[in-house]
Amino acid sequence: MTIPSLFLSHGAPTLPLTDTPARAFLKSLGGTLPRPKAILVVSAHWETEVPTVNAVQWNETIHDFYGFPRPLYDLRYAAPGSPDVAARIAYLLKASGFECDIDQRRGLDHGAWVPLLLIYPQADIPVLQLSIQPHLGPEHHVRIGRAIAALRDEDVLIIGSGSFTHDLSEFRGHGVNDAAPSWVNDFADWFHTALTDERLKDLLDYRQLAPFGRKNHPTEEHILPLYAALGAGGANVHPERLHASATYSILRMDVYAFGGNASAGVSDRKVSADEFSAAGIG
Ligand code: ZN
Repeated sequence: MTIPSLFLSHGAPTLPLTDTPARAFLKSLGGTLPRPKAILVVSAHWETEVPTVNAVQWNETIHDFYGFPRPLYDLRYAAPGSPDVAARIAYLLKASGFECDIDQRRGLDHGAWVPLLLIYPQADIPVLQLSIQPHLGPEHHVRIGRAIAALRDEDVLIIGSGSFTHDLSEFRGHGVNDAAPSWVNDFADWFHTALTDERLKDLLDYRQLAPFGRKNHPTEEHILPLYAALGAGGANVHPERLHASATYSILRMDVYAFGGNASAGVSDRKVSADEFSAAGIG
């Protein structure tokens, strides 16, 4: 069975310590998926010039944030790595014309270990990370996802980890479970409809077309992992929303699956490849 690729919103680093609908959902998610042989996380918190995959025997837990409660710094996610899968990822990317560097030291940033602590708390599945290139925008990340989509047939779970909305200039003063304002929800509604309608060309142009597109993503690094997961969903992408909620009012915590079978009985349309072609993505 082919594993769907996922996009998830990792919220604030305190996600494991706060009682929210998103935390409850992520805690339940692992039990609904086939057990992967490895997990590849495309995280918003690893930016490099060239696509880079980490290849380590054991992952260090990187606490890449400051000013948060002490217990957060005591959390560890000591998952093994997989140099073999890293080599496979580098091979697939190069076969599609990308450069790919291998980092033999780097562990897991909080975009990877915070959600994985909830989804697979045993930390007994090898985890790898693939970096993003914010200067290259959404289309590049769709292509990256496409290049590694074959991993889904090899029991590798591909997760894009970012945030569905992410204007941190509006973060202060909100409680953890405060409702989202309309400028957040209007964007999320537009993006959800564009995803479910598979309007891929529009999605690539979200900064022009989506209401409050630039407002919700002043910089793009937290939405780009979604494009990688979307690309990894393959030609029959069937975007499916698994969860929707907000935290601290301005962070939508939505989770999507791509390329899964759950919707197959409802919709069997296979227009995605054509739409990718129309958008210039072969
Ligand atoms: Zn983040």
